Amino acid sequence: MSLAEYAKKRDFRRTPEPEPSAAEPAPSHSGRFFVQRHNASHLHYDFRLEIGGTLKSWAVPKGPTLDPAKKPFAAMVEDHPVDYGDFEGNIPKGNYGAGSVMLWDRGIFEIIGEEDGLAQIARGDLKFRLHGEKLNGTFAIVFMKSRGKGNEWLLIKKQDADAKAGWDPEAFAYSIKTGRTQEEITADLPAKTQPKKKVPASIWRPCRVPSRRLCRISFPRWEHRLPRSCPKAGAGCMKLSGTASGLWLTSATAR
Ligand code: MN
Repeated sequence: MSLAEYAKKRDFRRTPEPEPSAAEPAPSHSGRFFVQRHNASHLHYDFRLEIGGTLKSWAVPKGPTLDPAKKPFAAMVEDHPVDYGDFEGNIPKGNYGAGSVMLWDRGIFEIIGEEDGLAQIARGDLKFRLHGEKLNGTFAIVFMKSRGKGNEWLLIKKQDADAKAGWDPEAFAYSIKTGRTQEEITADLPAKTQPKKKVPASIWRPCRVPSRRLCRISFPRWEHRLPRSCPKAGAGCMKLSGTASGLWLTSATAR
């Protein structure tokens, strides 16, 4: 799929969603991820991974979960532009996907394994590790070959330290961008929390992460909190240093 299908479905004079722009260079083994809670004709979550210069996207009716037993169904949908990731707002009636869109989670992911993300998707079994505000740990998204439409996948949480039995995404139904509920977004109410600075795309590209244990990444004007606390810089932590034009991995130590 390409962004042509995304553009064909939308009239950008009538929707606040972003228009596709020039494709960005493909990241290799890491990228950003985004999850939107979308109250369209049916409430669903949109799960998006930055792979190959676009957002590979799946609609997940029950939402992603940290519970390995749930294995929610995920329908692959058209690629979305990278700029779509931070989108939150209302798609007016009469437009494709009309309804409110909440930025439910975001962060970075690492591809697990030697093959890049596109190759793993082509094979129908993509493994990755998320570092988000709500979602963390190892996941796989697996194509169901024998099903009808050819877009049917399962988004599976793997057993690890981040797995939580019974974890329900609906218990965390607030925006990580503005703190708003779905109803508050629908009503166009102002943000309840200070909007965080948009993450520059260039930040993530050099970040190949050899370590499984990550600590805080600091950036002069921006900070992303990673789930595992780091007692002190050193073993098991990676250090990143920033400039205005990007963030560079300066050291990483596997534990
Ligand atoms: Mn959607």
